[in-house]
Amino acid sequence: MDPWSECEGKKAHDPIFQTYPSQNYRQLVDGLCKERSTNAVVARIGRCIWVPGPIIVGAGPSGLAVSACLKEKNVDSLVLERSNCIASLWQLKTYDRLSLHLPRQFCELPLMPFPANYPIYPSKQQFVAYLESYAARFGICPTYNRTVVSAEYDEQLLLWRARTRATGTMGEEIEYVSRWLVVATGENAEAVMPEIDGLEDFKGTVMHTSSYKSGSAFAGKRVLVVGSGNSGMEVCLDLCNHNAQPYIVVRDAVHILPREMLGQSTFGLSMWLLKWLPVHVVDRILLLIARTMLGDTAQLGLIKRPTMGPLELKSLSGKTPVLDVGTFAKIKCGDIKVFFTMTEVQSMKMIAQ
Ligand SMILES: Cc1cc2nc3c(=O)[nH]c(=O)nc-3n(C[C@H](O)[C@H](O)[C@H](O)COP(=O)(O)OP(=O)(O)OC[C@H]3O[C@@H](n4cnc5c(N)ncnc54)[C@H](O)[C@@H]3O)c2cc1C
Repeated sequence: MDPWSECEGKKAHDPIFQTYPSQNYRQLVDGLCKERSTNAVVARIGRCIWVPGPIIVGAGPSGLAVSACLKEKNVDSLVLERSNCIASLWQLKTYDRLSLHLPRQFCELPLMPFPANYPIYPSKQQFVAYLESYAARFGICPTYNRTVVSAEYDEQLLLWRARTRATGTMGEEIEYVSRWLVVATGENAEAVMPEIDGLEDFKGTVMHTSSYKSGSAFAGKRVLVVGSGNSGMEVCLDLCNHNAQPYIVVRDAVHILPREMLGQSTFGLSMWLLKWLPVHVVDRILLLIARTMLGDTAQLGLIKRPTMGPLELKSLSGKTPVLDVGTFAKIKCGDIKVFFTMTEVQSMKMIAQ
C-alpha cells in the first residue's frame, strides 16, 4: 500500500476526520461542558463546540496558507478571526501608498502564484485581491468577529480548548475544542503606543501608524514621526509628498539599505548570496554596496549603523533593516529632519503643536 492510501485508510477510522464527532468524543466534550458549567470561575461559558479538524486563529496570509494546505490534503479546518475580513492588517491597518516591501515571488502563498500581470512589488490593493481569490479558491470561510481570548491544552483530555468572545464584547463565551491548534495571529497585529512624557498635554492629533492612511490630511503641517523602521520611514516620505513637514525620531542605530542593488531586489540578492556565503560575508557585501549607493550614513551625521550586519541582526534580534524607497534622499537634502532622542524633541516643546 502506498503511504498516501495508508494515511487515507487511517483517516477513515480517526474520529477527528469525521464530519460528526464519534460518540466517544461527543460524550467527552459533553462531559467537559457540563463540568465547566458547574465551575464558578468559568460559569459564563455558554457553548462548547467540537471541531473535528484543526482550529486556526487568525485569517491573515499565514492562517489562510495553513488552511489551504490542509484543504489540499482533504483536512477541513476552522479559522477564527477577530476582525470582519481576511487579512485585516492589510485591509484595515496600513497606509494607502503601501506596496509589498519584498518582491512578489517572496510573498506569494503556497499552491497559488500571483497573477502573471502583477508588478514586482504588488500594491496593497492587489495583494488583498490576491488573498481574497486565494480564500475563495480553497473555500476558506473564516468565522469573523470572534476573538480568541485564551487557549490552553487540556492534559487530561489531550485536547486544545480555545475560549472566544464576539469581538469587542464581554458577551457569551464560546469554547472551541480540537486536537490541534494553529496560532497565526501575526507579529504586527497589535498596535503598540510608546509612553511619552507630556503626551497627555499635547493638543494636536496623536495616532499610531496603523491608523495613518495618507499625508493628504497633513498638508502644510509639521508632523513628528516616532520610530524609524520601514513604516516610520515610508510615512515620512508620504508626508513629504503631500507637502507636510515631517520630523523623525531615530532612537537607535539602524540599517538602511536600498530596496534594489545591482538591478536586483536587495532581499533577492541576499537570499541568493546566502546560498554560497556565510551570513557575515553577505552582510559585508550588502553594506559595501549600500555605502556606494547611499554614502556613509553615520559620517553624514544622519543615522548610525549597528555594529552587527543587517542579516545577522535580523536573525538574532528580529530587527528588520529599512529597505529605502526614497526617504533617505529626503533626509539627506533636509526635507525630513532627524531627532536622535525624545529629550531633544521635548526640549522643542513637541514641535508639531
Ligand atoms: C507596513 C507593512 C509592510 C509589510 N510588507 C511586507 C512585505 O512586503 N512582505 C511580507 O512578506 N510581509 C510584509 N509585512 C509583514 C506582515 O506581517 C505580513 O505581510 C503578513 O501580514 C503576516 O501575515 P500573518 O497572517 O502572519 O499575520 P497578520 O497579517 O498580522 O494576520 C493575523 C490575523 O490574526 C488576527 N488575530 C490576531 N489576534 C487574534 C485573536 N486573539 N483572535 C482572533 N484573531 C486574531 C488578526 O486580526 C489578523 O487578521 C508588512 C507589514 C507591514 C505592517
